[in-house]
Amino acid sequence: MTATDVQNRIDQMIADGVKLPSPPAIAVRILNAVQQEEPSLNELAKIISSDPALTAKMLRVANSGFYALKYKVTSISKALTVLGVNILKNIALSFVIAQEMRGPVDQGFDFDYFWRRSVTAAVAAELLAEQIDRRSDDTFVTALLSDIGVLILHQAIPEEYMRVIAEKKLCGESASIVETRLLGITHSEMGAAILERWDLPASICQPILYQHSPQQAPEQYQESAEILQIADHLSSIYHDPNCGEKVRRLQQQLTNRFELSDEQILQLVDSVANRSLDILATFEIDPGDLKPYSQMLQEANEELGRLNLSYEQLVMELKGAKEETDRLAAELREANSKLRELVFRDGLTGLYNHRYFQEMVDREIDRAERYRTTFSLIMFDIDFFKKVNDTHGHPNGDLVLMNIAHVVQNAVRPSDIVARYGGEEFAVILPETDESGLKIFAERLRRSVERMATLIDRKEIQVTISVGGTCYPASAGKTDKKKIIDTADHALYASKNAGRNCVTLLPLKL
Ligand code: GH3
Ligand code: MG
Ligand code: MG
Repeated sequence: MTATDVQNRIDQMIADGVKLPSPPAIAVRILNAVQQEEPSLNELAKIISSDPALTAKMLRVANSGFYALKYKVTSISKALTVLGVNILKNIALSFVIAQEMRGPVDQGFDFDYFWRRSVTAAVAAELLAEQIDRRSDDTFVTALLSDIGVLILHQAIPEEYMRVIAEKKLCGESASIVETRLLGITHSEMGAAILERWDLPASICQPILYQHSPQQAPEQYQESAEILQIADHLSSIYHDPNCGEKVRRLQQQLTNRFELSDEQILQLVDSVANRSLDILATFEIDPGDLKPYSQMLQEANEELGRLNLSYEQLVMELKGAKEETDRLAAELREANSKLRELVFRDGLTGLYNHRYFQEMVDREIDRAERYRTTFSLIMFDIDFFKKVNDTHGHPNGDLVLMNIAHVVQNAVRPSDIVARYGGEEFAVILPETDESGLKIFAERLRRSVERMATLIDRKEIQVTISVGGTCYPASAGKTDKKKIIDTADHALYASKNAGRNCVTLLPLKL
């Protein structure tokens, strides 16, 4: 749009009843004072000093390090002589306009964010200009006011401007394109036009007008417009979640255009944040969580480190927990099998107990029936054991019992099952053993006990056993467990009756 088009559009808005802001009264007085043929330092000092809050802010900025003053300035007239009219005027305008142009938040516009962004851009412009040796008195205030058109448009036509913001977000198009389409004017055009009406010089208004298209600016304003553009990028690093990408793009731009080194650029990016923190305070704007880019990077790396570390810790803990679980499971398995052993074993002799013996007889009957095999059962009882107890005492009787258990256990095959049936009565299950096998084993058993000696009170004690046995033949079919045990038991008592220390085998009555 040409300058005339912009003027026409603004006139049309005014005709439509849109209210555009007038300059703050104190800004008008400051501008009037400096626009005289011979600017009066005294007049300017008087205007500024009449506002104590403004005076304090200005002295703070004058001493902030921006201007590398050798001595601290303590009054506006001192600041004027050291910094000059133009700088002082610009600092004053910045404060006055930023102060005036803050509205109620309930209009859906975040004024704090706007000014935070603008002050950061102003600081960035000032630092960049210094870095590339293009310092100008106007840089700071120009950058500070570069987006004032946004504020003006929002205040003048809030609903339409909110639609611009929404559409910009939706389409991802630049603000200028959406503004032109929806409003017929861009924020740069509006800002430059209004500041011109406020009598700000072309050195401020022209760069603002061309901030998004520096190449189209009249030649003398191209560089200032470009500085505004880069300052906007610099400041956006601190207001954009995708700052890493922004920094990379900026590095490219600054290296190509001004031959700055990466180190110089990162230093510049960092000082934008450091210096902005100070300046934001003088503008009484909440800095949010603004911090130097290098600190942001460092914090991100630390966070990443912490995440990695805690991930490794988590893996270690899981591994540890799994090992502990495995260990506990193994312990539990062992304890269970021990418990099982305890449940099925006799405490004194370590042989299987009565209960297990009963189960094993059931199992052997099942197996013999299913596979049509045979098995044998032996019961034996110590002869005159009462006498052993009586003579040598019960504990020595126990020794004899343990000794017999040991001897019998050694006499059998691994598949045979030896059990303590009762007090001094024992049973042996002999799987896959027929009558002839039974006969041989029973006799061998009787003789091993007979030969066995138990050392008690340095004397050798000997005992004998009476043995009874029966065989379950392969062709037996379904058989009652009780019948088998009873038959062996009867055979045992037959041995007792036959004079003890002998073997009796009885056929199973089917
Ligand atoms: P028999 O030849 O007729 O079998 O004579 P016996 O003396 O062995 O008579 P009986 O079988 O009736 O007696 C069993 C004795 O075994 C009674 C009991 O004091 C003893 N006894 C049973 N259990 C134990 C035990 O666990 N330890 C000891 N030391 N003695 C036991
Ligand atoms: Mg006995
Ligand atoms: Mg007995």
